[in-house]
Amino acid sequence: MSSKTISFVTVSNGTTKGMGEASCMTGYPYTHLDIRNQFEALEAIHFFDELTSIEDLHRRTREEKISPPLRFAIESAWVHYECLAKGQSLADYLGVSLPEKIQIGYSIPIVDDKKINQEIERAKPYGFIKIKVNQKNMVEVVLKVADQLKQALIVDANEAFTNSADFVKAVEPLRHLNIAFIEQPFSKKYEALYQEIFGKTLVPIVLDESIETMDDYLRLKPWVDGINVKLQKTGSYFEALRLMKIAKSDHKLVMLGCSLETSLGIWGAAHLADYADFCDLDGATLLANEPFGLVAYTEGSPYMTVQKDLVF
Ligand SMILES: [Mg+2]
Repeated sequence: MSSKTISFVTVSNGTTKGMGEASCMTGYPYTHLDIRNQFEALEAIHFFDELTSIEDLHRRTREEKISPPLRFAIESAWVHYECLAKGQSLADYLGVSLPEKIQIGYSIPIVDDKKINQEIERAKPYGFIKIKVNQKNMVEVVLKVADQLKQALIVDANEAFTNSADFVKAVEPLRHLNIAFIEQPFSKKYEALYQEIFGKTLVPIVLDESIETMDDYLRLKPWVDGINVKLQKTGSYFEALRLMKIAKSDHKLVMLGCSLETSLGIWGAAHLADYADFCDLDGATLLANEPFGLVAYTEGSPYMTVQKDLVF
């Protein structure tokens, strides 16, 4: 069993409380210790003492360099507090509709040959399949899965490739398959490679690690087919919604993703589901002792159900 540290921020007036969470993803330049240090630094400058409104919070947040997970924890704690204090739903607050159930996919991790058949069997009931791959196994694993499953495949290459020619060559035997998209084949630091492969793969390319902010999206959008939006990357419900709406209006694919987080974070993300083509929201399934119970998964069911009201 492995462990993961998730940090929570609470906004309270003594009777009503709102909570938000910061969950750092692997591969990002901040850890839960950075989150703690940043939070303490904000307390030291009395950041929280003078906040009066969400607009005020956003203005102050822009002034300070706060990592996206902590920004989201603070913003969502504030927003959840305001919702509960006013008796308003988060959906109304954000101006969205919250689906009662959301189609989720099945994720096949990088496993050895023997386990892949088990994974394929488990994946059968799901609407789409996400396969994690590396440069070495991508072709073999994707061909094997596609041979046995007819659902759309999302191939998460997790920054495995460093060279555009290698990637174009690797995709060649896969182009006739039902691949919805390949996610983040190159590292964030090699973003010029997306321009090099543009139009050469016939398989849509969606970016995850490379897209945190609107600036990232505007810079890279000419060369890619879509984005994976996560609240722990945008650091804000409002930023995530803005990004998703703009990407949709640009006819891009939008994936709504998550980190390994509690059902509180997943429940928040569920509010953005209407703007996504695919929802990859199984982040709470891996947690033992999940404390909130705001979404529910059933093994073998391609849907997660979403609780309407927020209760702490
Ligand atoms: Mg990814």
